[in-house]
Amino acid sequence: MFRKILIANRGEIACRVIKTARRLGVRTVAVYSDADAGAQHVAMADEAWRLGPAPVAESYLKAERIIEICRQSGAEAVHPGYGFLSENPDFVEALEAAGIAFIGPSASAIRAMGLKDAAKALMEKAGVPVVPGYHGDNQDAGFLQERADEIGYPVLIKARAGGGGKGMRRVDRREDFRAALEGAQREGAASFGDPRVLIEKYLTKPRHIEIQVFGDSQGNVVHLFERDCSLQRRHQKVIEEAPAPGMPEEMRAAMGAAAVKAAQAIGYCGAGTIEFIADVSEGLSQDRFYFMEMNTRLQVEHPVTEYITGQDLVEWQLKVANGEPLPLTQDQLAIHGWAFEARLYAEDAERGFLPATGTLTHLRLPEDMARVDSGVRQGDTITPWYDPMIAKIIVHGPDRKTALARLLAALEATEVAGSVTNAAFLAALCRHEGFAAGDVDTGLIGRDQEALTARSGTPPVVLALAALTSLGLTRPAAGQDPWERLSGWRAWSAARQFAVLDHKGTRLEVEVHSLGRSRFAAHVADSVLEIEITHVEDGTIRFDMGGHRDKARIADMGAAISVFHGGEAFEFTRADMLSGEDEGDAAGDRLIAPMPGLVKVLTATKGQAVTRGEPLLILEAMKMEHTLTAPRDGVIGDVFVSEGEQVTDGTLLLALAQESADAA
Ligand code: ADP
Ligand code: ADP
Ligand code: MG
Repeated sequence: MFRKILIANRGEIACRVIKTARRLGVRTVAVYSDADAGAQHVAMADEAWRLGPAPVAESYLKAERIIEICRQSGAEAVHPGYGFLSENPDFVEALEAAGIAFIGPSASAIRAMGLKDAAKALMEKAGVPVVPGYHGDNQDAGFLQERADEIGYPVLIKARAGGGGKGMRRVDRREDFRAALEGAQREGAASFGDPRVLIEKYLTKPRHIEIQVFGDSQGNVVHLFERDCSLQRRHQKVIEEAPAPGMPEEMRAAMGAAAVKAAQAIGYCGAGTIEFIADVSEGLSQDRFYFMEMNTRLQVEHPVTEYITGQDLVEWQLKVANGEPLPLTQDQLAIHGWAFEARLYAEDAERGFLPATGTLTHLRLPEDMARVDSGVRQGDTITPWYDPMIAKIIVHGPDRKTALARLLAALEATEVAGSVTNAAFLAALCRHEGFAAGDVDTGLIGRDQEALTARSGTPPVVLALAALTSLGLTRPAAGQDPWERLSGWRAWSAARQFAVLDHKGTRLEVEVHSLGRSRFAAHVADSVLEIEITHVEDGTIRFDMGGHRDKARIADMGAAISVFHGGEAFEFTRADMLSGEDEGDAAGDRLIAPMPGLVKVLTATKGQAVTRGEPLLILEAMKMEHTLTAPRDGVIGDVFVSEGEQVTDGTLLLALAQESADAA
């Protein structure tokens, strides 16, 4: 086995690879950008080397620098994780030339599968069914339009070099084709340096079912069954599971065989995934699954396969890269139970899933209830530079129902303050009837998005608990039994107090009366809540409301207070702690960056007359485009940014002229 490996990645996957390497007695070298100097993967590795500044082009994508660090540190092999350099054949060749092993497939295998059009052509030749469409060389817009007309709408335009759900446009009507083509080409060129596209028939009720394959240098290839990744939002996976619900045994065998055939066609060595799309408009059928693409690396969702097979895929990767044969044969592999993975992201589901940033002032991940793969700790910051993933929460159970119940429980026990997260959205998905029944397809989230992202208002009891906390009435005093410890009982037995809190942009005043012995009356909105605090310990607060006993978790961080209740997080700010800054000028006159990103296209110019809703600027964040439009009819006053500029969350982008002020 290797003595020392370098992990050319960051975040959860770097940490996850380090764990397995350590278990196998392999020393680890981490690399980091300036933004990650204090990151968890750096702390976990045996040694760590600086790459450069935060932007990925100057750090995690710097192939020469990584090879130089291998030489300096004596690392014999590089694990690329996923993303970054993991599917870069030039990097693999450069490593080879330097005598360093790549823990992944050969450069030629990566090349063969790197472009979706060429991969489809290759698979077609190998006898693997592919999605119907055009994947040839001709990129003339008129020609492509004709192909789309022929295929029949809806069609999907895909950047051939695309990945991660980027560079794709669905087109429903002929007249929308040209604009969509331009969008896909622009995203393809910007994100992957290649504007070329392919066109596919858009399946209207598909499931994404992928097969994990593994090859070794002796020419053996096995598959480790399927994962169903149909729960997607904008073509990005949200919750994955293994096995696939309702999968007939013959179809599993047919897909497994097709995937092995695909891997063998390119002499594949290492971990890979063959992604298929299954047309389920008439249920799952072994005649209606099609090759979409191959990912020549470890997938984000590999843990669900690890759970159902009982294998450590990173261990397999290290062994195979070291020239050893596959640890198991196909006959020795079997499915045990059911597994789910949910991707916890810093993003605002309520506000169109805008990526979020922030310092995680409070973080409690459900490590006692699930496998948690994470690369951040409490106090770490989610920056705009990289993927805003906080953790992957992975569960296993003897059957699907049990596993899903465990996933929901784990999500409900997740506590994050300092950034919004999609935890409540993920929990809502776990409660979705269709999902619970295994009736999934890639349109499920889109169809029910409103219900899945809608949050009911903050429960009055949460407001009351935040108020009590802000007044110091839920803090246990030292040295007595928990009942007597409450300062509320001790100090404020007859008092009447006001808590002033900011919550979701609104100022709240909650009047609190102490009724003695840890009992309080809180005047919330139009009602009075009588609460008895029965126990407070380590942030868990137990209370009784008219005989109904419940509990909540509280993180009191000074100016900010978070209350976690019923699987949801509620953030409050103590109003007296605020600087008293005013709220800014009247809404509607200014365009403010809703998230960090790059100003991709700027059409607005000073003095230009605009109408409400007119697109003025395209902001690109996480390689997705967000169009910002004029907030009202008017004339552009000032433009504060230019094309190509990187802006942070809250940056003033442009302002409309103040007509009333001008007139005065
Ligand atoms: P990426 O490289 O971005 O992962 P894929 O080709 O794997 O691109 O497609 C991503 C997702 O887009 C799929 O998981 C699926 O949900 C959807 N998709 C892809 N092709 C089609 C298609 N022809 N019809 C319907 N949905 C599709
Ligand atoms: P098991 O616990 O039965 O070994 P798992 O599927 O939980 O199997 O883990 C598979 C691999 O993932 C193991 O190598 C383990 O080291 C690693 N792993 C387990 N838990 C975590 C975790 N919390 N974070 C990252 N990696 C983990
Ligand atoms: Mg894909």
